Parts: sequence; structure tokens; C-alpha cells
Amino acid sequence: ETTQDASGYFSSYNDLSVHQLMLKDRPRTLAYRKFFETHREAVKDKVVLDVGAGTGILSLFAAAAGAKKVYAVEASDVAVLCKEIVEENGLEATIEVIHGAVEEIQLPVTVDVIVSEWMGFYLLHESMLDSVIAARDKFLSPDGIMAPSHATIYMAPVDMSEHFQDRADEWSNIYGFDFSPVASVLNRNEVSQPLVECVSPNFLRSEPKELLSLDLRSVTLDEVRRFTNKLEFCVPQETKIHGFAFWFDVDFHGCLPPRKNKSAVVMDCVTSTAFMNEKGDAKCEASPTSYLPSSVSANETAEQSNPEVVSLRTGPRDEPTHWKQTVIFLPQTIAVSADTNLASRVTMSQDTSNNKRHYNITVALTGDDDEEDDSDEDEGADSD
Ligand code: SAH
Repeated sequence: ETTQDASGYFSSYNDLSVHQLMLKDRPRTLAYRKFFETHREAVKDKVVLDVGAGTGILSLFAAAAGAKKVYAVEASDVAVLCKEIVEENGLEATIEVIHGAVEEIQLPVTVDVIVSEWMGFYLLHESMLDSVIAARDKFLSPDGIMAPSHATIYMAPVDMSEHFQDRADEWSNIYGFDFSPVASVLNRNEVSQPLVECVSPNFLRSEPKELLSLDLRSVTLDEVRRFTNKLEFCVPQETKIHGFAFWFDVDFHGCLPPRKNKSAVVMDCVTSTAFMNEKGDAKCEASPTSYLPSSVSANETAEQSNPEVVSLRTGPRDEPTHWKQTVIFLPQTIAVSADTNLASRVTMSQDTSNNKRHYNITVALTGDDDEEDDSDEDEGADSD
């Protein structure tokens, strides 16, 4: 339907069940609603662009918050349904549905706010951020607002033993017979590709680290097409490590000035305080499950620090979302002794040769000396 749909990406969004899944994801959808409620003054009488409107829910929130005009741009055929929903709610005077790719359309004015739910698994899967950046550079007024305004990818090493054990138990008794070979095949298939699953916080074997932090007002395509970061994970207890879990947060700062010390950093401070209090000692000695007091969710911690900042968090300790977490398995499970510093070099790069909607994720365990030697890469995984 558009020149951009070579990979069938837009047509995958013709499937209504995908939109149903997103609408039913309450932490996701309510975070956007809360943004519009918290930052009414930034939206009232303003022009809003909804990049990838889908069924139009974010445009409806914007209209309810008093936007003067909302452009709901949707490339897939769901645009037709979106228009019907807008009319059904009597909002056609405010919300204009445009059926097309945001890269290919024109608008008569610049916009004050760009809202978009562009996030994929581990944040960047689907590469829809590229379209949001293009829309920002083409349509956002200089003092305009991005919603969300910040995004952060986190990662942590995981011990998935319990997950595999649950499967082994399940197949060990099928009508009184032992079906363990099935569990083995399922395990082998699972570790050969990224796994999207709700990771129990108990599986984390170190405090999560920030892999990438983006300010969406200024981020460029180059910064997200490929990046490398070195991270060291402090593993307090002897454990197996099967791989690494990835997830993300997005924050909505509204018209607050962009801050360097964003809430994710504040949360890290709170986290390590709790971590320290537990044993009152060196950071490597707390138990892996004690990074946060269990009664305090990461959401609460961040929001207490600044009630104006609305956050959507998708980590193992947060309310589950349809993104769950993404686990990348190492080619071989490693055994790690207590108080180990697991040094890693992580690269995410858009798969430009095949399908730019996919990323290649590489985790190289570099050892404490952190040699810059590509030959000792321990892991290469394709996120297809
Ligand atoms: N905003 C909706 C849908 C989010 S899913 C909601 O929150 O429920 C992302 C949507 O963006 C999909 O419907 C997809 O078809 C659309 N989309 C992705 N890239 C786009 C582009 N470049 N131009 C227009 N629409 C796009």
C-alpha cells in the first residue's frame, strides 16, 4: 500500500489482534493517558501529530486533553477503522486521520506535540523510531514536545535454571510416561534465538545496567542504527549465567527542560541505596533478589522523585506488559563464582542488508582486562 512496505511491516498491522493486544496492555496505554492528563497545559489548544495512530487511541487522548487539532497518521489499513472510531466519538472536527506513511505525507502546519507508541521488543525492534525521528525533523516546531521524551534500554545477566526446570517437570510425566526428550528439543530451539518472556526478578544475577539512554528531542538516526557499549556486571553469588535479559523504560517529561539527571538515574540511586542497606556493606554482597525492597515498585520510586515525569517501565520488577523482556542466550551456559565482575561489550546494529526492522545483538564477554579483540566474541545473536 505504500512504497515503504517492502518487508510487509505495515500490513502486519492490518491484523486487529495486534491492536487489541496493545489496547489491553494497561501499563502501556495508561502511561500515555497519564501523560495527557499530567501535561494538559502543553496540549490544550495545540496541534498534535500521532505517528502510527493505529486505532487512534492516543489521538483520542490528545483530543480529550483539549488539543486544537490532531493529525492521526497511520500507514496500515487500520487507518480506515481509525477514521470510523473518530467519527463514532464525534471528534472528526478535531482529529484528521491520514492514511499513509509519515515519511510520505505533508501537513499544512508544524506541530507542537508528537506522540507515538513506536517501541518494540528491547525498545528498538521494528525500527519504528526511524520514522518518529523523520517526523520530528520534518514537522515538530523548535520548542515542540516529544511524547515520550526519553528512552532507556537496560540489561542484566540471567540464570534461567528455574525456567528450564519447570519445562523438564512438565514433560517428565505425560500420562505416566517420561517425555524428557521433548523438553530437550524445546530447550535447544529456545536458546538458538532471542526469547521474549516475562523474566522473574529472581532470575537476575546482577543489578541491571543502562545500555543506552536516548533524548528523543535530539537523537539522530546514526545513534540508533548501531551502537556499542561496555558494561560491567557485578555478580554477588556463585551462579550459572545462561544469557542476558533486555528491557526498556520510556519517560514523558512534557515541557520540563531536558534534564541530564533523568529519573532513570534517580531510580538507580534509590536502587543501590536499598542494595547497600540490606547488608550495609560492599555492593557485591547483597543477595541478587534484594536490589529493591519488594514492596516498592520501580514505578513508584521514579514517580516519587518527580510527579511531573510520567514513566512506562517494562522491567522484570514492573507490571507485565506485552513487551515482556527479551533474553539473548550465550552459546554456552557459563559458571560464575561469587563476586565476579562480568565485563561485556554489547553491540546493537540494524540489519541493513536483510531487514532494517531487525537488529543484530552481540554480547561479547571480554573478561576483566576488557581486550578489544573481536575474536573472543562469546555470543552473536540475531533478533529475528
Ligand atoms: N498508536 C497506536 C498504535 C501503535 S502500534 C496505539 O497506541 O495503540 C504502531 C502503529 O504505527 C502501527 O499501526 C503501524 O502501522 C504504524 N506505523 C509504523 N510506522 C509508520 C509510519 N512510518 N507511518 C505511519 N504509520 C506507521
